[in-house]
Order: sequence, then structure tokens, then C-alpha cells
Amino acid sequence: MTKQYNVVIVGAGPAGLMTAKTAGESGLSIALLERRTDITRSRRTDAGVIALNEYMFGQIATFNRRTQTLVFPVTGFSLKYEGPWNDNRYGFHFYSPGGKRLMVGDWAELKKDPVKNSKGVAVSKGRLLEGILTDARAYGVEYFPNTNVTGVAIQDDRVIVATDQGEYQGRFVVAADGVNSRIVRALGLNKDRQFLGTTRYLTWAMTGVQPPDAEGLIFVFTMYGTFSISQTCDADHYHVGIMTSDPKDDLESLLERFTRDDPVFSQWFKKAKSLDRPESCVMNYWSPFEKLFYRNVILVGDAFASGQFSTFPSLSAGYQLGHALTKAFLDGKVNEEGVAPYLEWYSTYAYKPGQRTFGGVNFVKYLTAEELDYLAALAPEPAPPTASFVKVFNSILEIYMPLVPRIKEERPEILEKFKRMGEDMEANQEERRKAGFPNK
Ligand SMILES: Cc1cc2nc3c(=O)[nH]c(=O)nc-3n(C[C@H](O)[C@H](O)[C@H](O)COP(=O)(O)OP(=O)(O)OC[C@H]3O[C@@H](n4cnc5c(N)ncnc54)[C@H](O)[C@@H]3O)c2cc1C
Repeated sequence: MTKQYNVVIVGAGPAGLMTAKTAGESGLSIALLERRTDITRSRRTDAGVIALNEYMFGQIATFNRRTQTLVFPVTGFSLKYEGPWNDNRYGFHFYSPGGKRLMVGDWAELKKDPVKNSKGVAVSKGRLLEGILTDARAYGVEYFPNTNVTGVAIQDDRVIVATDQGEYQGRFVVAADGVNSRIVRALGLNKDRQFLGTTRYLTWAMTGVQPPDAEGLIFVFTMYGTFSISQTCDADHYHVGIMTSDPKDDLESLLERFTRDDPVFSQWFKKAKSLDRPESCVMNYWSPFEKLFYRNVILVGDAFASGQFSTFPSLSAGYQLGHALTKAFLDGKVNEEGVAPYLEWYSTYAYKPGQRTFGGVNFVKYLTAEELDYLAALAPEPAPPTASFVKVFNSILEIYMPLVPRIKEERPEILEKFKRMGEDMEANQEERRKAGFPNK
């Protein structure tokens, strides 16, 4: 006979694990289903950086170096972390094709006080997840690895989850199965959202990479692709990646070109060696969900995000959902009203109607390499520090807006091109949509 649980959670990433640990601690019966055999060994691209000391979705995290504890003071919990770490993260550097640099954050200045100024700590994501899983199991959460969820059905007051290992029933089901969520697709919930496009990521783990500074996230815009470099938690260990929404791009050969043949950037890779197998991710982007609740199925983490929600907000959301589930059972309201505190957090801090997180602008479609070099070299000082993808655009605008009169005088054709980019936005969006594969 199918075993029944208070809550069945699909996916043991940061969001599902934190929901399981929190609800498990208060004694709810929980089944945590995960298709992977070993959650510490991931091939999904992730730099393992937990954002610190700046607000995201109404939450903030800080890292106590001495005790190796991640503390979430607004949400009100902490996580002890036993593994390697590296918190020298101070913002972004953006490079143009000719190697000119636009700095977000004055890294040299900021790193004089890392405890106060660090914008992120790189951790071993596997070790972090392993720690939360150990706690969750100690609280009685039943964990089922190697269990691939294939569908979901709603029957009276139960939700039935179908897997390749049999069925699981819960009063609530939590979809924590990440980007391209199977539960979301099985319930047809994407049909009400607008598809915005698909991005593919490929990452090589490398040693011996030598950019001028490496204490943050580096993006390099070349005329043949956009690349990223990010230090991991291990000494002399980097993630070097490419991202694209063009289905024709061969990511492997573009990474080879960037690291071996690029006249400017191959210099950084003279002593570099590839480690391990590559990591990858295919991500569909959608307009945001208005509601995270559908007949006792609740969405959390990347499963509801319009793009990627990140590790720290996913942990925070899982914690809030875990307590909301407990309260629902305590109050005898095993329904939408019961989990209202979690749903309210989403509508207050995370749901932005009309928000478009996808893609950004394809600068190289409009600007030449020389024009990009000119713009990157123009900023008189670093933009205000941030390591947040949500805030970085505004930070850059802050230093470029006062430069507009100068650009108008020196290079009016560049402003014309920006105007055209604005006018073409809808058409470019449509192009991305057509090139994507929505997998509804
Ligand atoms: C290139 C790249 C770099 C990134 N780097 C960072 C970074 O440095 N820092 C950061 O904070 N975030 C980063 N992210 C984002 C981060 O990886 C996610 O936002 C975060 O992991 C979301 O957590 P989650 O628990 O919602 O989903 P996930 O971590 O995706 O977990 C979902 C879990 O569900 C399981 N699952 C999926 N389908 C099924 C199924 N059918 N049956 C059973 N189990 C299933 C999966 O195996 C997985 O374990 C990065 C993303 C990309 C693409």
C-alpha cells in the first residue's frame, strides 16, 4: 500500500532540503524524493557562491569566518558549514573584446576589510547540501535518492506523486525540483506563463587561470561569445564558462577558442589546466508565477523562478515554507490559507509582475569591438559595489548616466545604436523565444 506523508518534497537541492529539514524538525512526516544517487556530486553548473551582506528578495545572509556559520538574520536561522570556503568576493569585472575593464566595486579597497565588504562566500555546494541532509534525516525525514518523479495527480485531499520507484502520497506536495520543474510541467502550470527563451551554459573547472584580479565574478564580452570566470572555494580553482541563447553555438569549441586562441584573453590561460568533467545547465526563462499554490502543490526555489533564484534565497524560501507547513497542520488548515505566511513573502518580495529577467542585451549585435572598448574604458571610477545580478544594472547606470553628454559629443553614433537597441527590444525578445525550446 502507498505510504502517506504529511508532506512529499520533490528535489533535494537547497530549497527542498531546507523545507524538509525545517518541517521535519517540528515532527511532520516527510518524504524527500531525489532523482540523483548522490547529491554531493553535481554536474549542474553552479559556482557555489552564497551572496553575503546585501539584501535579495527581502533577505540577507552573513558568514561567520570563525565558526564557519552562515547566518540569515531576517529569516532567522543559521547553518553550520563544514567544508572549504573562500569569501574574497567584491563584485563584478566586465571586459570588452580588446581587454578594457569596467569595474563594479573597487576590489583593491574593499578587500582591506573582507568581513565587512565581502559580497559572497564560495563554498562546496555538495558539502553544504550534505550537512542539511544529515540534519533533516536526524529529524526523521525519509530520504529516497534514485527516485525520479514522473507525474503528479490530485485526488480529494491528497496529492499523489508518481515515480519510477512507485507512488508517494502527501497532504501537501512541494515542488522543489528546480529549473524546468517536472511537477510544474505535469500540472500544466507553464501554460499561463509567457516563455522568454532558453539559455545554455557550459563550464570547465580549471587551475592556473590568471586574470589580472580574480576576487569576484568576471564577465568577458567577445565578438563570438560571452564568458565568465569565477573562483571556487578551493585554492587556485576556477570555473570558466560560456552562456548562449543561440542554438547554433557549439559551446565546447567556443570555450576552446576563448582559452587557447583569443588574442587578448588566451594570455590568462597559458598555465591553465582543465580538471574534472565539464558542468552544464539548460535553463528556460518564463514570466513569473502569480501564485505558488495549486491545489496543495506548493512551488519553492528555482521551480517557481523566472530564471535562477540562487542558493541563498532558495534556502531562505525553504525555511519559510517549512515553518508555514508546520503552522498549517497546527492550525488544522491543510490548505492555501494554512501556508499563507510563505505565500505572502513571495508576493511581497519575489513576485514582480512584468519582470523580465531573461538574457540582457546582445551588445555585439549592435556595437563593434572598438565601440565596446571605448565604453568599457570610459568610466572614471568603479561602479558602486554589488555582487547581485538584480542590482548590477542599476549600479552601472549610476556611473554611465553622467557620461551621456560626453558620449554624445565624442561618439554620437554609439548613442544612436543604444536607441536602436531599445526600439528592437520586442523583436529581439521574439527572436529568442523562437530560438528556445520551451518544453511546456
Ligand atoms: C551557470 C550557473 C551558475 C550558478 N552559480 C550560482 C552561484 O554561484 N551561487 C548561487 O547562489 N546560485 C548559482 N546558480 C543558481 C543555483 O544553482 C540555483 O538557483 C539553486 O540551486 C536553486 O536551488 P533549488 O533547490 O531550487 O533547485 P536545484 O538546486 O536545481 O535542485 C533541484 C533538485 O531537484 C532534483 N530533481 C529535478 N527533477 C527531479 C525529478 N523529476 N525527480 C526527482 N528529483 C528531481 C534535482 O536533481 C535537484 O537535486 C547558478 C546557476 C547557473 C545556471
